[in-house]
This record gives sequence, structure tokens and C-alpha cells, in this order.
Amino acid sequence: MGKFVYSFNEGSKEMKNLLGGKGANLAEMTKIGLPVPPGFTITTDACNTYYTKDKKIWDELLDQIMDNLSKLEKTLDKKLGDNENPLLLSVRSGAVISMPGMMDTILNLGLNDIAVEALSKKTNNERFAYDSYRRFIQMFSDVVMGIQKYKFERILDNVKESKGYKYDTELTVDDLKEIVKEFKNIYKKELRQEFPDNPKEQLILAVKAVFDSWNNPRADVYRKLNDIPHNLGTAVNIQSMVFGNMGKTSGTGVAFTRNPSTGENILFGEYLVDAQGEDVVAGIRTPEPIASLKNIMPDIYNKFENITEILENHYKDMQDIEFTIENENLYILQTRNGKRTAKAAINIAVDMVNEKLINKEEAIMRVDPKQLDQLLHPNFEEKALKTATLISKGLPASPGAASGKVYFNANDVVTANENGEKAILVRLETSPEDIEGMVSSEGILTARGGMTSHAAVVARGMGKCCVAGCSDIKVHEDKKELRVKDIVIKEGEYISLDGSTGSVYIGNIPKHEVELVGKFEEFMDWVDEIRVLKVRTNADTPKDAKTAVKFGAEGIGLCRTEHMFFEEDRIPVVRKMILSKTIDERQEALEKLLPMQREDFAQIFEAMEGREATIRLLDPPLHEFLPKKEEDIKNLADDMNISYEDIEKRIEDLEEFNPMLGHRGCRLAVTYPEIYMMQARAIMEGAIDAKNKGFDVSPEIMIPLIGDINELKYIKEFVVNVVEDVLKESKIDMKYMVGTMIEVPRAALTADEIAKEAEFFSFGTNDLTQMTYGFSRDDANKFLVEYESKELFEKDPFQVLDKNGVGKLVKMASKLGRETRKDIKLGICGEHGGEPASVEFCHDIGLNYVSCSPYRVPIARLAAAQAVLKEKSQVSMA
Ligand code: ADP
Ligand code: MG
Ligand code: MG
Repeated sequence: MGKFVYSFNEGSKEMKNLLGGKGANLAEMTKIGLPVPPGFTITTDACNTYYTKDKKIWDELLDQIMDNLSKLEKTLDKKLGDNENPLLLSVRSGAVISMPGMMDTILNLGLNDIAVEALSKKTNNERFAYDSYRRFIQMFSDVVMGIQKYKFERILDNVKESKGYKYDTELTVDDLKEIVKEFKNIYKKELRQEFPDNPKEQLILAVKAVFDSWNNPRADVYRKLNDIPHNLGTAVNIQSMVFGNMGKTSGTGVAFTRNPSTGENILFGEYLVDAQGEDVVAGIRTPEPIASLKNIMPDIYNKFENITEILENHYKDMQDIEFTIENENLYILQTRNGKRTAKAAINIAVDMVNEKLINKEEAIMRVDPKQLDQLLHPNFEEKALKTATLISKGLPASPGAASGKVYFNANDVVTANENGEKAILVRLETSPEDIEGMVSSEGILTARGGMTSHAAVVARGMGKCCVAGCSDIKVHEDKKELRVKDIVIKEGEYISLDGSTGSVYIGNIPKHEVELVGKFEEFMDWVDEIRVLKVRTNADTPKDAKTAVKFGAEGIGLCRTEHMFFEEDRIPVVRKMILSKTIDERQEALEKLLPMQREDFAQIFEAMEGREATIRLLDPPLHEFLPKKEEDIKNLADDMNISYEDIEKRIEDLEEFNPMLGHRGCRLAVTYPEIYMMQARAIMEGAIDAKNKGFDVSPEIMIPLIGDINELKYIKEFVVNVVEDVLKESKIDMKYMVGTMIEVPRAALTADEIAKEAEFFSFGTNDLTQMTYGFSRDDANKFLVEYESKELFEKDPFQVLDKNGVGKLVKMASKLGRETRKDIKLGICGEHGGEPASVEFCHDIGLNYVSCSPYRVPIARLAAAQAVLKEKSQVSMA
């Protein structure tokens, strides 16, 4: 025989899986002697069994419920449905993980025409008795039987209106009696049966309704969204009622032990006098701030304050507490760890360590790395946001808050920026040509593209706010306007973007800036003490590099040199270089690029102040750099002194069917070694310049897209020759490394061979994911959405590293690499380097570092520290 029902006296907070969160905490509070109205919990196990028994309450369970009910009746010396001293109950659902969408609470269960009279006599408060009765009928009808709430509320409103009342509290006994009658009529009309006046029948129907609500569509969707297993089941809590609606000396409220938005250590909450249950959140009357309770019921306030301290010390975390006052007697109805903002999470964690409530390791586990995003980007002022007009919602592609005047092409944004304006770049979708406009913009809005579209990836890299794939916005780049429904926004008008939610607003909404000082710094120091994995950054410019260092980056894991090629004064030279027909011509262009690149690298090395930096040689297909507009082609033709047709022809020649699998990366260097030779020289000369300024530099030169050891051998040889030449010329001794990206599956498979030549591997998991799955990142979001909705994929593999497939390759290649070269340096530089679950994986397989965009550096640091702590707790559990 199983035990399916536990009295609050029998449970504890450790029994959350069996009793649900609410039940376990009610038992725990009972155990430590807090004033909790007595009751019992039907287990999650019972809920799961119920589903195996054709959704029937079977005899054994019924017996255990009735047995516990009789005990409760004895304890309180009350009886369900009694005509002298009736027991009233609340029936409350309580899953293991609290879940919106589950059944609402039913209060005052057990009332019928007899019990209500008894209650009235016993309390000498007829109004209260009938107020409870009408609440019960409404809640039962709505929550258990599914009759729409508004049908009851309409009656209530009618009575209030005809009598000229503002508040429910003005209803008289006669009003309430009349309302009860009408409520019962509705019940009868809707369900063609009488309102059940047998309290035990009421109770069983309510228990069934809680069980059934576990599988209602809202709860189901919520579980899917939040990765909550469907087989947990829900518990049911049956508790004796206490009454906040007994008049001026009663009330109900909710409080947090600390401020959940700032973390400040002050009791924070609200209450209502003469109210029950959800009146506080229902917004019918405005609740009072908790501090004012001190004035009207000082004793109760002191008692409550004392209890909040006990609870916080007991749970060692900020608590969210529900309470009710019945005739100046205080009862605690719920406690749980309170939800909080990122700012509050950090402040509370640090304060609690300083108060010696928790240790540093516990503090580190208290903050969700993903939540840190909130802190690292500016936010809109809450007050201003409330009155702002939301016009559309796209994908939250890159967090932050941005406002500016809209411009519809990159050049206009650059010009606006030069004129001191704040600009938002609005495009159908972005391409590499838009880079400069993106850099100069406050934020980016695109109508097409997903979370890994060009706009999204580049914006995240820059730490720039971006809303992507905002499909109900019509962007007319030619007319320089955008339309949403009947709203038209023209060039130069203000909009505001929230990159954390994907919201797009009209106008210029005020913001507050990021402040990473004080407790944040202290917290991150602890994080750094614990973590093993190093955190580097992906940075293409000195500015990004500096930002990343400020956020704690320990080096550069990926510096993409191609972005440097797009700058206005360089792109013509780059184009000449690409289109030259002879080596000499190409050499001439490269010689012009050399000093520019040297300066780029010198600045980056300086910005890193001696930290390690991996520079990747040119990677994208060359045609990305070529002009597309007629005007640009013409200018280039003039400049190069060749015909328009000639240029057009060369551009055509360079076109590829599948550029991402085409002539790019190291394949370019096989055809045009002189490009990498120039870059290798620029890197070394830049490094020497930085060294001469006193920085201890040792460059890591990275060759992309290797798939075969012979490619690497061939390229490495001339790269090393150039490097050695430079060192000889300058008579400087400098450590340097040559390594490769592992992003082609064949490279991973032959990593043991490749490690003979490569001194480091950097896993380029964006390309590796795309090539392992065989779908292109630019096209995948069109169909991956479908995969997610059909639950074929749990997560977008471009966002969360696919451990079983791509991750297996990474793990295997690391092992093979280390077999050949014991001290090979291993890191990851894909978008995954800043995603917490992927960071944890990188720690687990023993990589040396992860590299991510500057704004994700703190997230990766925290995730890396948590990975250590999780590993430790698993070891100690085994
Ligand atoms: P939720 O999970 O939505 O918070 P609860 O089960 O906590 O639902 O119930 C909501 C509210 O109902 C409580 O905050 C409390 O005000 C009221 N309530 C629940 N049980 C009782 C009870 N035994 N006596 C008085 N009020 C109760
Ligand atoms: Mg509720
Ligand atoms: Mg509650």
C-alpha cells in the first residue's frame, strides 16, 4: 500500500519532488513552528497514478484523504459542512516547479446553505459568512467546473452599480445573499445541475480538477518552453482556511524579504485590509505598502518582520511570502525563493555572503548567467516604457536598448552619425557591406533573418542592440520609410528598440546606463577565483578589444581581419587587390594594405596590453568585397583604368553557386599566397610595434578552413618564412604560434595529423555546426523554426552547441590533437563560446578557453565557474 497523503506535520522542504514546492514548504514552516493553518498534501505520485487509473480517484487514495480530513477535523474541533462549527478548506495546486497555467486556488470550500448559517452564528459576522460563500461559489464554478468568470463578475458589477458602490467591501448582507442566489442560478443554467452542496463531493471534485489541470494546454505549453518534464505531476494541498475578510482587523498580503528589483535589504510588499486571497493582485482596490502595516497593526507587523527573518535565515535565500491576518492573528500561507532581476540577484548574493548566510560558491550558483545580459546593456527607464507606443515585435537578436532616427542604408547612417545624430539602421536584411553603417548606428532593425542572421551575429559581436526578423514591418528602402499596419515612419523619425525583448517603439525613450561597479565586481572576482576555463573575446577592432578587457576578457580568441577591409578608405584598395589580373598588380595593392593592417594589429595588441591574441587570416569568399551597385562598379573601373564591362566580367567570374563551401579561407591562400603573406607580415610588424611600446606580445596566427594536413603544411611554410624574415629584419626575438581553426569536419576527423603542424586549435563551431549538419546558417532559420515547433530539435544548434554530434567532433578532435601534441592549446570561438550550456560542455571536455563577443564575456566567466561547481557537486554525490 502506498502513502499518497502527508499531513503538514510529516513533510519537509527536502520532499519537494513528492509534495510539490508549496506543500514541501508548508510542511517545513509547520516543522519550524511558524503559524501555518493545518492541512495535508496529496502527492505528485498520486497525480501520476491518477493518470494510470483512467483519471479516477481510486479507493485507496479516497480513504487516505478522508482519514487525513478526519484528523484535521479533530485537531481543529471543526467539521466539514457542520451546522455548528464548520471547517472550511482551501484547495491549492502545487507542482514541483511553480507553473503558471496550473489550476487556481479554491477558497472557502465546504460552504453550503447550512454551513454558511453556522459560520455566521459562530463568528457573529453574517456579512463575512456570505461574502465567503459568494466567493466560494464563483471560484468553484470557474476553477473546478470551467464556467467563465465574467458571468459572475457581471452580476457583482450590476449590484454595485445599481447601489452606487465603489468597492466590494460596501456590499451589505442582503446584497450578498442575493448575489449567492444569482450565482447558483448561473451554475444551474450553465451545467444543468444544482450547485453541489455536499462538502465532500466539493472536495473530491476540486482534487480531480487540480490533477486534470496538470495536462491543460497552458500548462503543457509552459512545460515545453521551460524544459520541465511532463511526468512530474502536481501535488494538491488541502488546508484549513483562515480569513482575511473578517473586517478591519483582518487582511491579506504578499512580501519579499528583500527588494526584488534592486536587492536592497528592506522588506518589500503590499497588503489589503478586509480582503481574501487574490484580492491583492486582482487590482480591485489599491494595496498598501507593507511598511504602513506598522502603523495600523504594530504587533502584527513586528511578528511578521520577525518571521520573514526566520524564513530567510532558514532558507538562506530571499523569500517571497504570502500571509493572512485573521482578527489580529497572523498566518503564513506560503514561502518560496523569490524571483528577482539580475541586479538584485547579484546584490543579494554578495550581501548574503557578507552576512555569512551563504558561502561564495553558493552565491555563484545563485545567479543565472543568461540573466547577466540584462546588466551589461543599457535599459529603458521603466516609467517611460509604460507610456511608449509598441508598434511591433521581432526577434531579440542582440540585447540592449537603443533609440535614434531611422535611416534605410548604411551610408546615410554613417553621415547621420558624422552630423552628431543618433541613428537606427533599418534594413530588409543586412550584408557585409552594411558593416560601417552598423558600427555607426545605435541599433539595427531588420525585417528578415533569424537569430543567427548576419545582422544578429554581427550585432552581438559588436554588443550593439538588434531586433531581427521583424516580419510585420514593411521596409521600403527605396522610399526611405517603414510601415506597420497603418503607421508610417519616415527617414529621420525616431524609433526605439529593445534588443532583449524584440520590441520596437515609436519615439525616443530615455534609458539608464550600465554600471559594472561595486558588488558586480566583487561577485565576478569570486567567479574568477573558481573557474578553470579561460575566457577570451572575439574582437575585430581595438574598441571591441578594450570593451572586452573591461568585461574581463583574458585574450582575443578570434580577430577577424576581413571587417577591417570594409572601411571606406580601404575597400577600393581591397577591390583592386581582388580584381588585379597579374601578381604585380596584386602586389601593388597589397603593399598599400600592408601599413593599414600593420596599424590595425599594432592597435589591437596594444589594446590587449600583452594578453594573448589569435588573429585569423582572411576568410570570406572574395566576391563579398566586390561592388554590387552600378555606380560603385563605375567608380572602380575609372579608378583602375579598365572598362566597366571588364570589371563586370571579373565579378561574374568570382561568383559562386555556394560561396560558403566555395573559394574561401585557406583555399584563397592556396591560389593567392601573397594575401596571407601580407597579413602575416602585418601581424608581426604590428606586434613588434606594440612590443616596442612595452607590451609583451606573442601573436597567434590562425589559418581558417583547413580540411587536410597538406593545405596547412603548404600555407604554414610560407607564413613561417615571412614571420622569420620579419623577425630577422627587426632583430627582435618574439614567441609566436601558428595554428588552425577546426571547422571542417574532415579537420576534426584528422586532428591527430593536423596537430603535427598546428600549435593550437580553435573550434569554429559556427561553420562546424553548419557543415556537420549540412545546412547553411543563412538558410537554416527558414526551416529550423519548423523543427523546433515539431520538437525535432530541442534547441537551435547554432545557439546551443549540439553536444551529441558537433560536440562529439570537438571532443574527439581535442583528444586526437593532444595525442599528437601534448601541450596543444584548445579553444572555441563560435557563437557558442558565450552560451552557458555550451561553456559548461567546453569545461567538461577540458578545453583551455572559450571565446565570445565582448558583452558575453561576463556570462561565459560565470558559466565557467558554475561548471566547476557542478562538477564538484557531482563528484561528491557519486
Ligand atoms: P498561487 O500559487 O496562485 O499563489 P495559492 O495556493 O498560494 O495560489 O493561493 C493564492 C492565495 O489564496 C494565497 O496567497 C492566499 O491569500 C489564499 N489562500 C490560500 N490558502 C488559504 C488558506 N488556507 N486560508 C486563507 N487564504 C488562503
Ligand atoms: Mg494564483
Ligand atoms: Mg501563492
